[in-house]
Amino acid sequence: MAGKQKILVVEDESSIASFISAILEANGFEAMTAHGGREAYSAITSHCPDAVILDLGLPDMDGMKIIRAVREWSTLPIVVVSARTHERDKVEALDAGADDYITKPFGTSELMARIRTALRHTHTSGGVAGGDSGTFRTGELTVDYDKRRVFVSGEDAHLTQNEYKIVSLLSKFAGRVLTYDVIIRELWGPGAGGDNQILRVNMANIRRKIEKNPAAPEYIFTEVGVGYRMREGN
Ligand code: CA
Repeated sequence: MAGKQKILVVEDESSIASFISAILEANGFEAMTAHGGREAYSAITSHCPDAVILDLGLPDMDGMKIIRAVREWSTLPIVVVSARTHERDKVEALDAGADDYITKPFGTSELMARIRTALRHTHTSGGVAGGDSGTFRTGELTVDYDKRRVFVSGEDAHLTQNEYKIVSLLSKFAGRVLTYDVIIRELWGPGAGGDNQILRVNMANIRRKIEKNPAAPEYIFTEVGVGYRMREGN
């Protein structure tokens, strides 16, 4: 056996910890658990897991602290599990360096999608700066990085330059949430400021061009108060 990927589950509620572990093991991963922040941090440093699923509400330490501490020396994928529905916590976790988040209660397929996406992005890091060639496909949508065009069912969607840049950026991180700030900075530079309005207008136009029903998008989803997430590639 080539060695299973090892996932550390940090969760103080043991029923949830064993639920997540069981899902991981059923999907071919090795699961380890830690029930508090200190235990988690020492497991990360001594066992070098391939990814961490991290509950933010721990008895002995705020999960946010662990993210910041780990990010000082590691790009280890971290998927935050949060019972908190406050968007600000999600944004804060992402800003601190978490790769993604999942909100309780969640289903098996959602959890596995987040983990697989987070693992994949560490192996293809380089992200935005990486080679802009080839294509990305999801459903009937194709992003052609050479032509800098987006096609739906083979038809050119006639996106503007900015619209193309947004779709292209999201496609490079398909499956993963990108915050409004990250998208704005990536598109308009670090001085662009935190105004989401231009982004929202662009997204409305993009959806009119690529979605069958812009009110119920199938390619680019809104993560309320956080950002956008593109559907995973085919
Ligand atoms: Ca908890």
